[in-house]
Amino acid sequence: MFKKILVANRGEIALRIQRACRELGIKAVMVYSEADREAKYVKLAEEAVCIGPASSALSYLNMPAIISAAEVTDAEAIHPGYGFLSENADFAERVEKSGFQFIGPTPESIRIMGDKVSAKQAMIRAGVPCVPGSEGELPDDPAAIRRIAKTVGYPVIIKAAGGGGGRGMRVVHTEAALINAVQMTKAEAGAAFGNPAVYMEKFLQNPRHVEIQIIADKHKNGVYLGERDCSMQRRHQKVLEESPAPGINRKLIERIGERCVAACKKIGYRGAGTFEFLYEDGEFYFIEMNTRVQVEHPVTEMVTGVDIVKTQIMVAAGEKLPFTQRDIVMRGHAIECRVNAEDPYKFTPSPGRISMWHAPGGPGVRVDSHVYTNYFVPPNYDSMIGKIIVHGDTREQAMARMRTALAETVVEGINTNIPLHRELMVDAKFMAGGTNIHYLEHWLEQHKR
Ligand code: ADP
Repeated sequence: MFKKILVANRGEIALRIQRACRELGIKAVMVYSEADREAKYVKLAEEAVCIGPASSALSYLNMPAIISAAEVTDAEAIHPGYGFLSENADFAERVEKSGFQFIGPTPESIRIMGDKVSAKQAMIRAGVPCVPGSEGELPDDPAAIRRIAKTVGYPVIIKAAGGGGGRGMRVVHTEAALINAVQMTKAEAGAAFGNPAVYMEKFLQNPRHVEIQIIADKHKNGVYLGERDCSMQRRHQKVLEESPAPGINRKLIERIGERCVAACKKIGYRGAGTFEFLYEDGEFYFIEMNTRVQVEHPVTEMVTGVDIVKTQIMVAAGEKLPFTQRDIVMRGHAIECRVNAEDPYKFTPSPGRISMWHAPGGPGVRVDSHVYTNYFVPPNYDSMIGKIIVHGDTREQAMARMRTALAETVVEGINTNIPLHRELMVDAKFMAGGTNIHYLEHWLEQHKR
């Protein structure tokens, strides 16, 4: 096992990884930008290294600064967390070339999965169901593009192979609009992602977002840890997540989970990863894979009892997975609410000093947050300041616990989206379960204020 790991991230996930290291008896070196000097995990750290000014480009995205921090502290491995450099194949490569273990998949796996066209082709070969669409990148010939669209059937969506963060996509309803839309998406993709390749998929009208968590070791063992429903989204950003996904046939989830594990074996995947699917009318359609730990990993931890971050570290160190598929039993129901420093209805960011922070507690309540009373939320980064996660025997009990937890939470000095979560937890349609990816946007439209 490693003696020392460098945590190349910030915020709640930096604290989460620090906690996992402590439990494993590993020293964690924390890095921080000048804006994060006051963060809880920096104060708690045995060792912390300032890697640059507030700007992410000069700190959390600064590969030489991070690698030097690992060198000067004698760390053996680097955990990238999520966001920042976590899905950057070049970073993973530089980490390994510098003699450190990257806590994640190989650079090759990251590269295959980072290109949505090659990811989809790999999934088709591995027997994972995908959204019907073009076989790979769209050709230049307009007649050929029209033929493909006709076969797929309108409406279609044109997507950038290198796209991410909900950008680089365009929905097309008629043949008349097709060629222009393809050209515009290509031009945008070239400018935004440095890769003009686009592909086509059938546009699903009312899907849910359901994803499968997997984890694999370096000895060809892999398991799936059930699913998460992340359909409550605003602008393709997840707002709250839950596990299991309400009302989906367990046998179907098992079949998809097994396919995902088989796909991991086929591509030699190691570490934690998530297969994202759209789910509509009883069918799963793969859209992309995330090759890192996700924000919403705690709901899976709560229902399976598996510590995903600890397991990531163990498999990176070369250990075998300490469980098999048969050991994985999903118990009860978990919900996570992302707490953002923002106006709850206008969504304008609300950085600043937190004059009062009181976290909830009680049975089945978990809070993952790096903030505290008098902490200053810097304006430079993502607005998420923490996550409230609850577990209950049933979905009803989990929702009741979340209502209590949200009622107990006090954050003063900045705005947060907690009032929005309080309303969603008593919304009849959410409470019934199974709302689709458009539900929250429609709800916000109707509840405009
Ligand atoms: P990104 O990497 O930018 O997040 P994804 O491929 O994961 O892109 O898609 C993001 C979101 O776009 C999905 O969660 C879904 O809301 C929508 N979307 C993507 N593909 C389709 C599709 N074929 N049909 C309907 N909606 C889609």
